[in-house]
Amino acid sequence: MAVARTRSVAVIGVTGRTVEVEADVGNGLAGIHLIGLPDTALSEARDRVRSAMVNSTYPWPDARIIVSLFPASLPKRGSQFDLAIAMAILSAAGVIPAERIAEPFFLGELGLDGRIRPVRGVLPSIIGAAKHGDVTVVVPAANSAEAALVPNVKVIPVSHLRQLVEWLRRGDDEPEPRVEECAELPKSTDGPAVDLADVVGQPVARRALEVCAAGGHNLWMLGPPGTGKTMLAERLPTLLPDLELDHALEVTAIHSVAGALPPNAPMMSRPPFVSPHHTATSAAIIGGGSAIVRPGAVSLAHRGVLFLDEAPEFPRHVLDALRQPLESGRVTVSRSAGSVTFPARFMLVLAANPCPCAQAEDQSETCKCTPTIKRRYLGRLSGPLLDRIDMKVTVVRSSRRELLADRQFVETSKTVAERVLLARERAAKRLTGTPWRTNAEIPSSLLHSDYRPSNEAMKPMTSCLDSGTLTARGLDRVVRVAWTLADLADKDTPEEDETNAALSFWLGVKS
Ligand SMILES: [Zn+2]
Repeated sequence: MAVARTRSVAVIGVTGRTVEVEADVGNGLAGIHLIGLPDTALSEARDRVRSAMVNSTYPWPDARIIVSLFPASLPKRGSQFDLAIAMAILSAAGVIPAERIAEPFFLGELGLDGRIRPVRGVLPSIIGAAKHGDVTVVVPAANSAEAALVPNVKVIPVSHLRQLVEWLRRGDDEPEPRVEECAELPKSTDGPAVDLADVVGQPVARRALEVCAAGGHNLWMLGPPGTGKTMLAERLPTLLPDLELDHALEVTAIHSVAGALPPNAPMMSRPPFVSPHHTATSAAIIGGGSAIVRPGAVSLAHRGVLFLDEAPEFPRHVLDALRQPLESGRVTVSRSAGSVTFPARFMLVLAANPCPCAQAEDQSETCKCTPTIKRRYLGRLSGPLLDRIDMKVTVVRSSRRELLADRQFVETSKTVAERVLLARERAAKRLTGTPWRTNAEIPSSLLHSDYRPSNEAMKPMTSCLDSGTLTARGLDRVVRVAWTLADLADKDTPEEDETNAALSFWLGVKS
């Protein structure tokens, strides 16, 4: 009877922090005690660990068992510590040599039959563990592909407690478990491919999507139901380039913590598209939860697109809460247990019907909404939120001529994405040495110094500023979009053409 020690990882937000797990098996009244802020899930770990051990034919020590997880100040939640707890107890009870479990990190939930189940947040956990240098991590087989994304980490996939314990007992020179020996991995499911070529007509909205994609801008689409606003928004990610490695790891870590990683496709290399419904809870959209703070839709859309259909229907406090991530690229969720910050840098696409009765345009005779009602409806989108929108487009029904037109020459997502990539490369080159990669990220102060267009080019904005139709924040938006239009036009700096076009996009143009 002795003390044994091993390691696991706790995920706080999207950051993995090392947790030491210690078991003391000794004389005293038989029973098990957990020390170190255990929540309900952790207390349940006792029962899972005991059943898993017994059902894997390892005797449960008939002794006093103390399991301690520290640092005690770190909130430790969830079931990912099961495996480390089992290792520490089995080692303290003399089943596994202590030196075999001292260095590796163990992550995994135990089933009552001894099976090792996948857990959330494996990628951020292993990134956290890798801070200790070259490390070995033992993970559930179903998480092994996700774990292998982190370089210089030895990943040992396991599917059953018995398999793991027998390997640890055999000694160092024995071949370690491999994925092929483990339970069958789930198959990935690819969503239906969408393409910009599916959209009929809508030349202005298509152009707006291209500009948004090139500069990382926010878009507002106004139009009656059935005009294809959702269809347009869904195609925005198809115009974006693949995520660069550092961004892909960020996005994957967030989805891992949310338990939303697509199976068998561990690395999310494409920008995500997230479209929460207006009835979703504030926690689902912004982030939250009672015991465990989970990222919300704004973080799941990190480095991708957040689409709010029927935006005026969203609760006011949810729309207001979007302002923080839109400004800072991060969202802070405060709970009694403390606050957690998640990354949340997304392109926002809002869609709205012109009035609450949501009548299609050709049935406008049945719409009885007065101008006041219409104004009040759209007024739910607050000024401060709309100030953070770079472009507005009114989407109208495609004409009969557009519907009947020969579509073989319609541009595909691939064609537009090539132009977007060239424009993004232009912007990235200009922004070399700064933390920003797109025009949308350039801070306001620099727009008026290093990135100020010529006086000539600024001229179209003067009268709008004088008449009050353009706010100071709106001016910044227009200048950013003008830079993107210049990038798309292969120009070194925006000229009057670009600022004029950017201004009309900001004021709102009709498709
Ligand atoms: Zn109406």
